[in-house]
Amino acid sequence: MARYTDAVCRLCRREGEKLFLKGERCFSPKCAIERRPYVPGQHGKKGTFRRKMSDYGLQLREKQKARRIYGVLERQFRRYFEDAVRTPGLTGENLLRALELRLDNVVYRLGFADSRAQARQLVNHGHITVNGRKLDISSALVSEGDVIGIRQQSGDKQYFKNLSETIGHRAIPAWLTVDTTALTGRVIALPNRTEIDTSVNEQLIVEYYSR
Ligand code: SF4
Repeated sequence: MARYTDAVCRLCRREGEKLFLKGERCFSPKCAIERRPYVPGQHGKKGTFRRKMSDYGLQLREKQKARRIYGVLERQFRRYFEDAVRTPGLTGENLLRALELRLDNVVYRLGFADSRAQARQLVNHGHITVNGRKLDISSALVSEGDVIGIRQQSGDKQYFKNLSETIGHRAIPAWLTVDTTALTGRVIALPNRTEIDTSVNEQLIVEYYSR
């Protein structure tokens, strides 16, 4: 499975804002956006985050930002968009909803992982179950009513033992509930736009693909 393997802080610096790709570090003074607030590359210091951009540039940057937040490569992202067009309702909202319903994102939102990248690793390594059965495909989409849990054999690992002490500390979106004792989460409803806490202007993405 293809994935981005370069330094992820470059992606935040390229977009000019924190994308929260590295868990705790993103909230510390070590965050690269705090230390090097200019675009990456040889001429980065000459460029500013807020340089004037064409409409196309704004649309492209918004699409790239969404891809980077959710850790999705271009071809797959386009497929999400094409599915969103075919789904009744607002295309932009459909797109964000599909991204939110990815298993790696749900594991992250439930607080089982500090970042989506870590959540993806938990899924890929077979630690996560959906409705009691192991599911190791991070791009799998969960549905309303699904129960996400930790595989029984993985529960003994130190990571998950520590997790039960910290899991209740993070805010959980309204469309999910978490049982901090059993380390399970449930999708109680499909998220609507107001419940998706992500700094993406989805309309610009729709305009980008509609050119
Ligand atoms: Fe982005 Fe986090 Fe790196 Fe800061 S520490 S630049 S928010 S990934």
